[in-house]
Amino acid sequence: MHSRRQFLTSGASLPLSLSLSAVLPRLGLSQDQKRTRVILLGTKGGPSVGQSGRSNPSTLILINDIPYVVDCGYGTSRQLLAAGLSLSKLRYIFITHNHSDHNLEYGALFYNAWITGVPVRVDSYGPAGLKKMTQDFFNYMKFDIDTRIEDEGRPDPRNLLTAHDFDSPGVVMRNGDVTISSCLVRHPPIKQAFAYRFDAKVRSVVVSGDTAYAPELADFAKGADVLVHEVMYLPGVETLVKRLPNAQRLREHLLASHTLPEDVGRIAERAGVKTLVLSHFVPGDDRSITDEQWAEGAHKHFKGRIIVGKDLMEI
Ligand SMILES: [Zn+2]
Ligand SMILES: [Zn+2]
Repeated sequence: MHSRRQFLTSGASLPLSLSLSAVLPRLGLSQDQKRTRVILLGTKGGPSVGQSGRSNPSTLILINDIPYVVDCGYGTSRQLLAAGLSLSKLRYIFITHNHSDHNLEYGALFYNAWITGVPVRVDSYGPAGLKKMTQDFFNYMKFDIDTRIEDEGRPDPRNLLTAHDFDSPGVVMRNGDVTISSCLVRHPPIKQAFAYRFDAKVRSVVVSGDTAYAPELADFAKGADVLVHEVMYLPGVETLVKRLPNAQRLREHLLASHTLPEDVGRIAERAGVKTLVLSHFVPGDDRSITDEQWAEGAHKHFKGRIIVGKDLMEI
């Protein structure tokens, strides 16, 4: 059984079964800060659908009850429901990069919101190609969509989802609640991979996306309250690649494009964030890796609070 604990710097740990409302006061969040909530929807790195108890990557940031979904790995719709969010409330989607564990359910998530029948209007943001992917998704679903418009009198979903491409870092969008900006990170061979920073009125949250050690991310995350950072555990990768026929290529890809716990700790320390949340675990389905092992390397460099993420955990 996977150890279901979250780790605090103090060494104290809280069973996850404690209700989140019970945990939040312990983390010292003010009422205002609770207006910006972070909920991990999927914490398993990589596209395979496993039985690890971790869903594929997605992170939900709720600001004044408006959802901002960062990445849409397979299972995101169900995880949103499990987090207590009605799909009809979907409003903003952000894609960090176009690996399938981050966008496989992009179109389907919007579709699932549309099919609720409640009028939805969704804006999506991501690296160049998102507009085309959005059109392609609607073409893929054309028969069904045209049928339902005609047969069920539904509004045309192609008018309800607006995709916004960008190819350089900077401010992605802002509204009265939050400014969202992006930082180019290092995820070869993909050139356009971005981290996102959400600066709400009383809380700032950074989501790293997928990246190798990228010191510029520390500058981008400077002073953030929460840094959700991807993480790769090397001994786990070595075990993983032993089982696979494409072992050498996969190992090289993983080492070049993801971040070891020690380096995650370096980023968090240099950024001076209050809380580091580990997520997008690689390998994400090896239950033998304990929370202590995931966090140990990061603790060497980062003295703030470290949380080993679990699906549906709220920070
Ligand atoms: Zn990924
Ligand atoms: Zn990736």
